[in-house]
Amino acid sequence: MNVAAILKLKGRDVITAPPETPLLEIARLLGTHGIGCIVVAEADGKVSGIVSERDIVREIARAGASVLDQPVEACMTKSVVSCRESDTMDQLMGEMTAHRFRHMPVVDRGRLVGLVSIGDVVRMRIAEAEMEAAAMREYIATG
Ligand code: AMP
Repeated sequence: MNVAAILKLKGRDVITAPPETPLLEIARLLGTHGIGCIVVAEADGKVSGIVSERDIVREIARAGASVLDQPVEACMTKSVVSCRESDTMDQLMGEMTAHRFRHMPVVDRGRLVGLVSIGDVVRMRIAEAEMEAAAMREYIATG
């Protein structure tokens, strides 16, 4: 199973925001969409960073609620680790574990084409295990 298969099931929509978006607006976007991370992208679609709920909590703890007026580019992670559609789920899990993050943008020829979260990977793994168990039961039942 690879990243393309995950995107086929979950879709390719990614919530993005421009670098000058205030952190409060980013927090609102996270809440409205029930997600944990936003990809920060320029008007031409070029990815310039990624910001997760952890970054917002860290900044509030460090400097107080006034940081919510700051542009997101002040606290986003600029060195974004992305993956490709041909990457396998094992590669994805390896990267997420090594870097200790839960989200990876999917990029194709420099363009953002999707986003995979640790939740998506776990869901796919469970579905895969259930399919294998059902096939095994069928095999045993029919001899
Ligand atoms: P997360 O566990 O994904 O909520 O993010 C934990 C930290 O890693 C935050 O500082 C994020 O900005 C950062 N982060 C999340 N995803 C990525 C990614 N794909 N590449 C680089 N940094 C990331």
